Amino acid sequence: MEILKEIIGDNGRVGIMGGTFDPIHYGHLAAAEHVRDELGLDTVLFIPSGTPAFKEKQKASAAPHRFAMTALAIGDNARFHISGIEMERKGKSYTVDTLREIASKLPPKTKLYFIIGADAFMHINKWKQRDELFKLTHFAVTSRPGTCARDAQVMAKHLKEESKARIKMLEIPGLDISSSDIRNRVAYGWSIRYLVPGPVAAYIKEHKLYLREIPVKDIKMELEKRLSKKRYAHALSVAEEAKRLAGIHGADADRAYLAGLLHDAAKGMDDADLLKTAELFKIPLDGYMLETPGLVHSHVGAGIAAVKYNVADADVLNAIKYHTTGRPAMSLLEKIVFTADFTEPSRSALEGVKAAREYAEYDIDAAVIEALDRKMRAAGDAAHPLSRDAREYMTYHLHPDTEDY
Ligand code: ATP
Ligand code: MG
Repeated sequence: MEILKEIIGDNGRVGIMGGTFDPIHYGHLAAAEHVRDELGLDTVLFIPSGTPAFKEKQKASAAPHRFAMTALAIGDNARFHISGIEMERKGKSYTVDTLREIASKLPPKTKLYFIIGADAFMHINKWKQRDELFKLTHFAVTSRPGTCARDAQVMAKHLKEESKARIKMLEIPGLDISSSDIRNRVAYGWSIRYLVPGPVAAYIKEHKLYLREIPVKDIKMELEKRLSKKRYAHALSVAEEAKRLAGIHGADADRAYLAGLLHDAAKGMDDADLLKTAELFKIPLDGYMLETPGLVHSHVGAGIAAVKYNVADADVLNAIKYHTTGRPAMSLLEKIVFTADFTEPSRSALEGVKAAREYAEYDIDAAVIEALDRKMRAAGDAAHPLSRDAREYMTYHLHPDTEDY
């Protein structure tokens, strides 16, 4: 607020742009810019809400995310500023409290203009201490596609007469953009380019915001359709076993179940299909994979989990990706899924499962080593070098006092 004081001087005109900004988009930015220009405001202060008063049921993203995105979005406009005033306050946010606090910190002659879209303005009668609000600030009501301008005008006229509200109606270039639409687009994997500033889009991607979490029961229904009966039963069995092992060894049971469930998601595909999909996902293929396309299914499976089922957790994706070959420095979850795939109950006919199964109860590393050895012996020359590297890694890093060392 101190910086703001310096900028605006004693007779400042300050726009206040409040919102959930989940995420901020060009509709917000354009509205703020046009109001600033038309009313000759010195600055516009963007205030991301804390706990939104009217949006409690629908969970908003964490406040620091919304603040960071807003800061990124306004970064290149010297006349835009941001305040964390509502986010710092505990409990519900009411605009009247916010404006009172701001007014108390700025020179007494400062004029405040609360910028609001016609859609939100139509609900103004529900706002806390409405008449007090009208005393504290002017209102700059902007047109917004989807809301009838005439209705807003009638409302404004009424409020001016009834409550002496100071309201300016502004026709601005219509941008039919909303945060809810953007959230949906991200969830469905559609582009949001040119709807939000580039750095905001990058932030959303980096922090994996708005991704759709698909309920496990829906994933199961899908998989049941995709996989043969036997393969689906195996997937369920690996999921259960991975969850059980997670309980024993201190990993996250839900993530273990999910990785187990999805580990063979690409198993229904034939070799040509696998290779084609691998290309689509830009999975680098080596000679071993080209010769034994079966090795590719785990990588493609991870791609399917990410793209089709919106799995964003890197550990889960890696557990799927390396469940066939293993790799050096596997995480606990990777080890669990790798082991569960080998030891799950319906594998009983396989030679060597018994020992791995016993180890798995108390020493997951020993179980992984046992499974790796068995798998590599069975594969012979076709064994992938990653398995050898994984085995070597386990020897040196986990049992440095073995004879092999
Ligand atoms: P949601 O879809 O989640 O409701 P939103 O896009 O409406 O989000 P808010 O954060 O709720 O965004 O809106 C903050 C303020 O910005 C409100 O006053 C709203 O009317 C205004 N506003 C939002 N989008 C636009 C737009 N495209 N044009 C004009 N005003 C807008
Ligand atoms: Mg809204």
